[in-house]
Amino acid sequence: MYDYDLLVVGSANADLVIGVERRPAAGETVLGSDLAVHPGGKGANQAVAAARLGARTALLARVGDDAYGRLLLDSQRAAGVDTVGVLAGGAPTGVALITVDPSGDNSIVVSPGANGRLTPADVRAAAGLLQRSRVVSAQLEIPLETVVEAVRSLAEGSRFVLNPSPPRPLPAEVLAACDPLIVNEHEAKVVLGEACASERPEDWARLLLAKGPRSVVITLGAQGALVASAEGVERVPSTKVDAVDTTGAGDAFTAALAWRLGTGTGLAEAAAYAARVGAAAVTREGAQESFPTAEEVEALCCADPGDGTRTPGTGSDDASGTGSAGESL
Ligand code: ADP
Repeated sequence: MYDYDLLVVGSANADLVIGVERRPAAGETVLGSDLAVHPGGKGANQAVAAARLGARTALLARVGDDAYGRLLLDSQRAAGVDTVGVLAGGAPTGVALITVDPSGDNSIVVSPGANGRLTPADVRAAAGLLQRSRVVSAQLEIPLETVVEAVRSLAEGSRFVLNPSPPRPLPAEVLAACDPLIVNEHEAKVVLGEACASERPEDWARLLLAKGPRSVVITLGAQGALVASAEGVERVPSTKVDAVDTTGAGDAFTAALAWRLGTGTGLAEAAAYAARVGAAAVTREGAQESFPTAEEVEALCCADPGDGTRTPGTGSDDASGTGSAGESL
C-alpha cells in the first residue's frame, strides 16, 4: 500500500568544517586546516540513516541550484534515498560554517538558504509523496508552517514523528500529531519552557506527554533513552561503545526509530533498536559517514557491552515487530 517506509521532510546543508588551534574572537582572524565539506542537515542525515538500514526512504527538501546542492543530491542517491522530492533553486543551498578546536569544541554559523524556502505550497505539491509514505518525519530546520502543512497532509493511517530541533514552542496541532515527539535533554527543556522545574527525565516525559503528543521519546546520550506513552514511562538502555564522534547520533536514532515504528514494532522495542543505531553511529567520525547498515547494527548488538545491558538483537530481516530487543527493558 505504501511505496515508502519513511518520508523525511526537512533540511539539507553542506557542512563546511575547518580545524583551528583556537576559535576566533570578535575581530580576530585565525588560520585553520584545509576545508572539509560534508553533506549534512538533519533532514538529509535522517534520510541517509534510514536508507542505509534498508528502509525505502524519500526526502522532501530544498537545495540551491549549485555545487553544494548537487553534492547533497549525490550523497542521498548513493545511500539509496529517492530524491524525487528534492527541489532545487530559489536560494543557495543551506550551509553550516563550523570551526572545531583541538578539544572538540566548535562554533557554528548556519545559513538556512534554500531550507528556509521549503514552503507549505511545496508540501502541497508533494501530496502524492506524503500519501505514499507509511511514516513521515520532520525536524525544525525548515519553516514551522511547512511542518504544520506536512501534518495536515498526512495519509490516513500514516504516522508522524517530530524531532523539534532547533527547539522552539510548538503549536497544539503539531504536538497532537507526534507519535512520538523525540527530544534530547536540551530540546525537552526548551519545549517545556517554564513548566520544567525538575531535573528528572521521567518528569519531563510526563510533562511533555501532557502537552498532547501520543508518545514521547527522550534521548539521553550514553545513557540511552526513555520512552513514554499512555502505557507508562520506560527506560531504554544504551549499548556501551567507545564514542569517537557523537555528531548525527540523534538523527540516526530518530531515523531508525521512525522506520521500526512503521513496521509495527512497539515503542520500547523500536527505541532499543534505535539506541543501538545511535551507539553504532558514535563509533565513527562524521555524521552521514558514520551511519551503520542493519548488518553493522546486528554485529554491534551481539557484542557483549560488558556492563550487563546486553540485549538480544532484531535483525534486518525482522521487520515484523516480533524481535526481542525489548525483553531486557
Ligand atoms: P542528540 O545527538 O540529538 O543530542 P543523543 O546525544 O541523546 O542525541 O544521542 C542519541 C542516541 O544515540 C542516544 O539515545 C543513544 O542511544 C545513542 N548515543 C549517543 N551517544 C552515545 C554514546 N556515547 N554511547 C552509546 N550510545 C550513544
